[in-house]
Amino acid sequence: MEIFGFCRFAINAYLRHQPCFPCIGFKISVCFVFYGIFSIQFVKSVLWFFCEMLEVVSIVFKHTFMPELPEVETVRQDLRQKLLGKKIIQLEILKTKLSKKEVVEFEKNIKSSSFQEIERYGKLLVFVLQKSKQYMLVHLKMTGQLVYQLRKKIIMGGHSFSAHESVLPGKHTRVIFTFADQSNLFFNDMRGFGYIKLVSVKELEKIISRFGIEPLKDTFTLSNFSKIIRTKKMKLKALLMNQSLIAGIGNIYADEICFAAGVLPERSTVSLTVDEIEKLYSCTDKILRKAVVLRGTTFNNYVDGDGKKGNFLECLQVYGRKGKICLRCRDEKVLIKKKKIAGRGTHFCERCQF
Ligand SMILES: [Zn+2]
Repeated sequence: MEIFGFCRFAINAYLRHQPCFPCIGFKISVCFVFYGIFSIQFVKSVLWFFCEMLEVVSIVFKHTFMPELPEVETVRQDLRQKLLGKKIIQLEILKTKLSKKEVVEFEKNIKSSSFQEIERYGKLLVFVLQKSKQYMLVHLKMTGQLVYQLRKKIIMGGHSFSAHESVLPGKHTRVIFTFADQSNLFFNDMRGFGYIKLVSVKELEKIISRFGIEPLKDTFTLSNFSKIIRTKKMKLKALLMNQSLIAGIGNIYADEICFAAGVLPERSTVSLTVDEIEKLYSCTDKILRKAVVLRGTTFNNYVDGDGKKGNFLECLQVYGRKGKICLRCRDEKVLIKKKKIAGRGTHFCERCQF
């Protein structure tokens, strides 16, 4: 409505006064301020539109998604096997948001070192460096990739890897690590939302403290899960995706968990029964573990060292199925719906979820 109001106002102003160009510019600016900038609904609509477009483009062209816990965990497990203990002999920083001082610090800490361990907190990867008190953090965000290459063999993690990107380094390569066996690790990021940076133990602890409970760790118990739900009043989907409460769940798995548990994602957490919380807990555990075993949903073009091509995409029950028949009730009159909940396109079946 706001955008139409803005257009109407601008046209009327022009027709009434037919003023000089600067005057039109001024009026248009005023209109924009009143109808655009101050209209929260308008800003939200624009953001929603871009998110939807990004999601649509991803699904249509590549089946790529924002990596969530299972995808990042798969990257971690793969890279662990390839990288741990290998001496880093060269580091090239091609594009970076780091300051000059940070680049110097990066080179000082990384060169001649090796990765002792790779850990994961939510969707964040933490590389533990040998002979250094610094930790290297990598967040893939929307378009990040970590690509390992040994001669012609490529192991990639993150977003899909199409044929035109098979020449490395590519135009989106930001950092290149070269190891003693002449293998390379490339950090690519097309949009530049992801990051790679060094932090001290103190900074790392501060960052980790912002993450909520980890679904694959022992602390993810029914009692802790119930406590989170009982103490937070918000929509269920918003709670599942809140990284400071539960780490690692994003849009895809939140939809899948709600569908599997038979609970509508729009429900308020205060309305959930004990049985429903139990169901949500067991579905979260089951779905995330299965997705890790199947190597996540992101890896459409993924091929590992053994030529395996894992894909949770085929297991998705509700996500991306808008307008399709529900795989559970198979009621032709009730197709899968998609609605914006907690700021994200949310899929659900009105018959199977309550
Ligand atoms: Zn259904």
